[in-house]
Amino acid sequence: MSIKLSSGHAMPLVGFGLWKVDNATCADTVYNAIKAGYRLFDGACDYGNEKEAGQGMRRAIDEGLVQRKDLFLTTKLWNTFHAPEHVGPACRRQLEEYGLGYIDLYLMHFPVALKYVDPSTKYPPSWSTDLADVPIQATWQAMEGLVKDGIVRSIGISNFQGSLILDLLRYAKIQPAVLQVEHHPYLTQPALMDLCKLKGIAVTAYSSFGPSSFVELGWAKALTNTVLFEHKTVTGIASAHKKTPAQVLLRWATQRGIAVIPKSNNKERLVQNLQCTDFNLDTKEIEEISKLNFGLRFNDPADYMKPPISIFA
Ligand code: NAD
Repeated sequence: MSIKLSSGHAMPLVGFGLWKVDNATCADTVYNAIKAGYRLFDGACDYGNEKEAGQGMRRAIDEGLVQRKDLFLTTKLWNTFHAPEHVGPACRRQLEEYGLGYIDLYLMHFPVALKYVDPSTKYPPSWSTDLADVPIQATWQAMEGLVKDGIVRSIGISNFQGSLILDLLRYAKIQPAVLQVEHHPYLTQPALMDLCKLKGIAVTAYSSFGPSSFVELGWAKALTNTVLFEHKTVTGIASAHKKTPAQVLLRWATQRGIAVIPKSNNKERLVQNLQCTDFNLDTKEIEEISKLNFGLRFNDPADYMKPPISIFA
């Protein structure tokens, strides 16, 4: 199943997230995910495993499991490369690491411009508290140039809120094809979802399982809230459909046309997550899950501006 983007290209509804996939196992994980049926991979400069992810994808292509055109590669411009003169080199460096000829979807990872870090000194550069004086408009226009150059097929945004999107739409010559945001039953953002629908921007949900991704990072916000896999609303609906809580959480999004990119290092779960579109929840079940919303946001740039920065260190 796929979503038709405003750029004219089709994006798979279910993909594989590459954040926190170990470098040592990344190539094999990606290769095995392709064998299991995954076609979309969601990477980023910040994840530090683009070279290995590319190796996995190229191995699958070299062995004839898939062709390049069957795969959909999403990756992201890191915050330290927002200045127009850095956008092209940053993107080309990433593309070279993947070795796949072009990027299907290139997202501005955050609407936050940080001071440039020379890749020869530190790569990936990670977060800092040093802002750079680069407006989003300048970055977006440079990203539009990547489409014209033919190295990127679609461009989009991540971690943008409604008013920033409305601002971007004023000057965008190429509309953002996708918004990738945190979206799970504890953070449903209904107004933002409606705005995207209205403006023809496809939405990809990240951290679909809510706290689970952040438990392993030891974040207090994650440790003090019920893990969604164990929430009785979710487990009740899962038993009724003879599905796992993970599949219910993914179906809650995909049934509303929202793409998902779950991450798992475990073979069985990887397969299970891909199989999240072969059943339907009823409207009441979708509403029940949506009612769990209480605005619990894990990925908030405001948190990263408070020194000391320890989360991704
Ligand atoms: P996720 O919601 O996919 O959850 C991952 C956690 O759930 C892991 O602990 C994993 O072991 C566990 N899990 C996965 N499948 C399971 C299953 N079937 N049963 C039980 N447990 C299961 O977390 P995520 O990694 O935060 O998000 C997914 C992807 O979204 C990332 O890998 C990344 O590609 C992307 N992402 C993007 C941004 C952004 O700023 N744009 C931020 C975070 C994540």
